[in-house]
Amino acid sequence: MPITNTLVAILFTASFVLFAFSLYRRFRLVRLGQPELRFDRLAERFRAMLVYAFGQKRVLRKPFGFNHLVIFWSFIILLLANLEFMVSGIIPALSLARLPASIYSPLLTCFDIASLLALAAALIAMVRRSIFPPYPEGRTFEAYFILTLIALHMVAFFGIHGTEIALGRATVNAWMPASSSLAQLLGNQGEPLLEAIAIGSWWLHAVVLILFINLLVPYTKHLHIITSILNCFLRRFEPPNSQPREEFAPGRSYGAAAADQLTWKDLFDSFACTKCGQCQNVCPAGITGKPLNPRQVIYDIKLNLQRNGSALQQGGAAALPLIGSAGTAGSVAEDAIWSCTTCGACMEACPVFIEQMPKLIKMRRHLVQMEAKFPEELLNLFENMEQRSNPWGIAPSERSKWHSILEVQPFEAGKTEYLFYVGCAGAFDSRSKQVTLAVATILNAAGVSWGILGKEEKCCGDSLRRLGNEYVFDRLAKENVKLFREKGVTKVITQCPHCFSTLQNDYRQYGLELEVIHHSQLINELLQSGKLKLLRQVTELGGLLYHDPCYLGRHNGVYDAPRQVIAQATGSAPAEMQRHKSNSFCCGAGGGRMWLEEQQGSRINLNRVDEALSNNPDTICVACPYCMTMLEDGLKDRQAGQTRVRDIAELVAEGLRS
Ligand code: SF4
Ligand code: SF4
Repeated sequence: MPITNTLVAILFTASFVLFAFSLYRRFRLVRLGQPELRFDRLAERFRAMLVYAFGQKRVLRKPFGFNHLVIFWSFIILLLANLEFMVSGIIPALSLARLPASIYSPLLTCFDIASLLALAAALIAMVRRSIFPPYPEGRTFEAYFILTLIALHMVAFFGIHGTEIALGRATVNAWMPASSSLAQLLGNQGEPLLEAIAIGSWWLHAVVLILFINLLVPYTKHLHIITSILNCFLRRFEPPNSQPREEFAPGRSYGAAAADQLTWKDLFDSFACTKCGQCQNVCPAGITGKPLNPRQVIYDIKLNLQRNGSALQQGGAAALPLIGSAGTAGSVAEDAIWSCTTCGACMEACPVFIEQMPKLIKMRRHLVQMEAKFPEELLNLFENMEQRSNPWGIAPSERSKWHSILEVQPFEAGKTEYLFYVGCAGAFDSRSKQVTLAVATILNAAGVSWGILGKEEKCCGDSLRRLGNEYVFDRLAKENVKLFREKGVTKVITQCPHCFSTLQNDYRQYGLELEVIHHSQLINELLQSGKLKLLRQVTELGGLLYHDPCYLGRHNGVYDAPRQVIAQATGSAPAEMQRHKSNSFCCGAGGGRMWLEEQQGSRINLNRVDEALSNNPDTICVACPYCMTMLEDGLKDRQAGQTRVRDIAELVAEGLRS
C-alpha cells in the first residue's frame, strides 16, 4: 500500500472513531436527564419524522424554507457519496466505482446535481443571512463559516470529477453537467496543472469532511443534522401546556434547577436546536422587550449541561447553576423564567419540535416549591387560592351571584346532562359575569340540560400550575376530581379556555376523563343542528375581528368553531388579524401573567391591540375572559373607545333578542 494511501486510511479511520466518541460523549450527557417516555406510538412517531424531518413541513412555511429543503436533501443524497469517499479511502475495494456502470453512472449524475444545488443554496443562504438575518443576532461567524465550508465542499467535488473527466480518467461516461462544464473550462490546461487541481480538490474535500464530522457536527449547532431528525420522531403529542405531574413525597426535589433535574428529552432538545430563531421571532415576551428569548434558553441549557456534565456524571454538584443571574452564559435568568405567558408560540414555530415552555415551567416549579422565590404580586394569589380556592380570595358563597336574575339548577347526575363550569372569572369578574349570563341564556334557549356547582365550585388551578405552584394545584385538582366523581360529572361546558384546557388535559393525569366542551364549540353545534334558532342577525356591531385565545387555539386546536359562531350570528365571517390561528399573538395573560405587572419592556396587550386597531374594527370578538380583560384594558390605554370587545356568546345572545 503506498504511503499516502496508508496515511489516508489512518486519517479517515481516526476521524470515524473520534466522531463516534464525540457522539457517545453527548449521549452520556443526555443520559444524565430524568426518565421520560418517548418511545410509545411508534407509527405516529415515524410518520412525524417523515413529514417534519424528511418533508421539512414546518421549515417550508418560513421564508427561505425551500432553500433549507434543498440543502437538506442534497446532504442526504451526498451522504452516500461522502461515506464512499471516506470508506473507500480506508478499504479501496468498497469504492462505488466497482459497481456496474448502469448503477454507478446514474449515481454520479445524482451526486453532481445535488452538489450543484447545494452550492447554489449555500450561496443563497449566505446572501440571505447578510440581508435578512433569520433573527437580529443571526450574522454569526459560525454560520458563515459553515456555509463557506459547504460551498467549498461542493467546489472540491466538482474539482475531483471535473479533472477526472478532463484527464480522461472517468471510469464511466456519466452525465455530470457541473463537473463536465468544469472539465470543458479546464480542457486546455496542461496535465501537470490538472493533476495539481485534482490532488488539491481531493484534499480540500477530505479536510472539509474531516472538519465536518469531527468539529462542526459534534461541537456546533450542526449536530442538528442528526438530532433534529430524531427530535421529530421524539415529538410531544400532548397539548403543549399540560405539564407532567410531580408526585409529592418527603425529601424529594421539585422542578428543575440543575441540568440533571430536567428529563433526557429536555437535554436532547438542547442538542437538536438549529438556532433558526423562529421561536425568538414569535415570542410575545421577547418581542415586547422582556428578558426572555426561548432560543437562548435552549442554548443556555446546552451550555449548562456541557459545563457541569463531568461533575454530574461523577455524582458531584453542578458548578454553574441552571437558574442564575441575567447575562450569565449557561444560566437562565429568573426574570426570563417569569416572563413566559405559556402561549406556546415558540413550540408551534419550532421546525424540530423543541419544547421551550415546559422547561421554563419546570424552573418555575423549582423556584416556587423549593425556594419560595417568586414575584411579590403572586403572594396574594397563592394565599387566596389556598384559602378560598379562587384568585381573588372572594367568599365561595359569592360564586352564584351572577345568576340573581336567572333561575339556575344545581348539577345533578341523571337530571342534568352538562355541568356548566362557570370558572372564577365568569363567577366573580363583573365584565365576565355578563358573558356567563349570555352563555346561560343560550343554553336555556337551546333546551340544553345543564346545572352548576354553585358555591361548591373551585378554581381549576390553571394559573397555579403554569406559575409552578404545583403543591396548591395538586390539592385543588384532587378536590375537584373528588367532587366531580361524587357528583357524577362526565360532561362539562366551559366558557374559559384555561378551564377548558386544564379540565380536559391536566385532570387526565388524575385519572379523570371528562368530555369538556368550550362554549364556542357547543354554540356552534347548537346553531348548526338547528337546536338554537336566532331571532335576528346581529349587524349593529359593525366590522368584526376575531382574536384567537392561545389556550383555545394553539393549545387545543379550536380555531373554526368561534369563527363559525360569529359568521352565523352576524351573517359574515370575521376579519382576520395579521397574526391569527396558529400564528396568533398572545394577549399577555396566560401562564399566570394575568396576575403579574409587566415591569419590563412594553405591554403585550398593547402590541395586540395595536395590531387589531390597524384593521379598523368596530368590535373585537374573543372567547376567553382573560383576553377580554387584556384587550379592553389595551383599548382604554389607546383611548380607542369606539372599538368594543365582545365575547362570541354575547353576539349570539343579542341574536336571541328580537
Ligand atoms: S410560551 Fe410564549 S411567552 Fe413563553 S417562551 Fe414560548 S413564545 Fe415566549
Ligand atoms: S428552539 Fe427551535 S425554533 Fe428556536 S432556535 Fe432552536 S430550532 Fe429554532
